[in-house]
Amino acid sequence: MSDPQIRRIAVLSGDGIGPEVTFWGIKALKMVAKGFNHQFIFEKGLIGHAAIEETGKPLPEETISICKGAHAILLGAVGHPKYDNDPSAKVRPEQGLLKIRKELGLYANLRPIKIFESLLGASSLKEEILKGTDILFYRELTGGIYFGKREKSLDGKTAYDTMSYSEMEVERITRMAFEAAQKRNGIVHSVDKANVLDSSRLWRATVNKIANEYPDVQLNHMFVDNMAMQLIRDPKQFDVVITGNMFGDILTDEASQISGSLGLLPSASLGKHVGLFEPVHGSAPDIAGKNKANPMATILSAAMLLRHAFDMEEEAAIVETAISDVLNKGYRTTDLANENTDQEMILGTDQIGNQIMEVLESKLFQSVVI
Ligand code: NAD
Repeated sequence: MSDPQIRRIAVLSGDGIGPEVTFWGIKALKMVAKGFNHQFIFEKGLIGHAAIEETGKPLPEETISICKGAHAILLGAVGHPKYDNDPSAKVRPEQGLLKIRKELGLYANLRPIKIFESLLGASSLKEEILKGTDILFYRELTGGIYFGKREKSLDGKTAYDTMSYSEMEVERITRMAFEAAQKRNGIVHSVDKANVLDSSRLWRATVNKIANEYPDVQLNHMFVDNMAMQLIRDPKQFDVVITGNMFGDILTDEASQISGSLGLLPSASLGKHVGLFEPVHGSAPDIAGKNKANPMATILSAAMLLRHAFDMEEEAAIVETAISDVLNKGYRTTDLANENTDQEMILGTDQIGNQIMEVLESKLFQSVVI
C-alpha cells in the first residue's frame, strides 16, 4: 500500500568525510522509501567550513530555514584543519553545529551502544563481558555546567563554573527516556552525584516524581563514579541510561569504546520539534577524499532517523540488520580491521557502501514486495 505522507529530510553534509558518508546515508533512506512506498524528499543545506567558504557564515539563514521546514535532519560532520590550527579564528565551523542545536532546542542526545557479534573479538574488553550489550544513553544537552554562569577572577588566579538544572529541564528528558524504556527492556538507570551536589538532588527527586507515571519501568539510581566503573565491569546490566550534560559527555565517550570504532557510532539529538541525526565522529580530515571512511555510523544514524523521527521501527531494524549481515560476511573498513583481517576483506567507503545496499535491497524486496 502506498504511504501518501511526504517527509522532508534536510541533509547537511558538512566537511571532510561528511559528504562521503552522508551519500550512503541518503542511499539507504532512498532504498527504504522504495521498499516501503514512503515518500522522502531530500533538501541540502550548507554548514561548517563548506558554508563559511560560500557565505562567510558557519550556519547560513537558508540552512536554518531548510531545517525548520524539515521533518528530520541528517548531518555528516563539521570541522577543518585550517581552524583547528588557529584557535583565534572568530568564525569557526563548529559554531554552525552549536547554533543549529540551539536554534532547534535539541535538549536530548541519544547514543545507542550496541555491539555487533562479529566484532566482539576486536574490542579491548573481554568478549564474555561485552556480549549482549545494548544500552541507549539519554544525555541532557542544553543545560548543566556547560551552560551555567562562569567567571574568572580579575587576577586570573581563580575561576568557577556553575551546574544548574531546573525541574522542567529534568522532566522533559526523563519522560523521553522512560518512554524509550517502555519499548525496550523496561529498565532506566539515572546517573547523578546526589551525595554531593544540590543540582543532582533536584535531578534525582524530579526523576523519582516522573517515574511514578511509568509503573511498568524499573528505575535505579547510580552515582556517576560508580557508573563509570560499572560500565566497564558489567555493561549488560544497563538498558536506558539518563544523565546530565557533563556526566553524559564523559560516560558516552567511555561507552563508545565498548562498540569499538568511532566509524560505527550513530547519534540523535531530539527536542520539541525536528530531530537531528549524525554520526558521533568528526570530519576526519586525515582520511577525507581517500575512500577510507566507514559510512556505517551515518547509515546507522539514518536508521535512528527512521525510528525516532518517523516512528518506522521495522524500516530502522532492516537497515541495522543489513549492516550486521555485511559485518558477519567478514567485510571490514580500515578502522575495523586488525592484523588478523584478510586484506581482501578490507573495503573502501564505496565498496562497503555497495555491499550494504545490496544486502538491504535483497531484504527489502524479499520481505515487502507482494
Ligand atoms: P574525528 O572523529 O574526525 O577523527 C578521529 C580519528 O578517527 C581519525 O583518525 C579519523 O580518521 C578516524 N575516523 C573518524 N571517523 C571515521 C570513519 N567514519 N571511518 C574511519 N575512520 C574514522 O576527530 P578529530 O580528528 O578529533 O577531529 C577532526 C575534525 O572534526 C575537527 O575539526 C573537529 O573539530 C571536528 N569534529 C566534528 C564533530 C562533529 O561534526 N560532530 C565531532 C568531533 C570532531
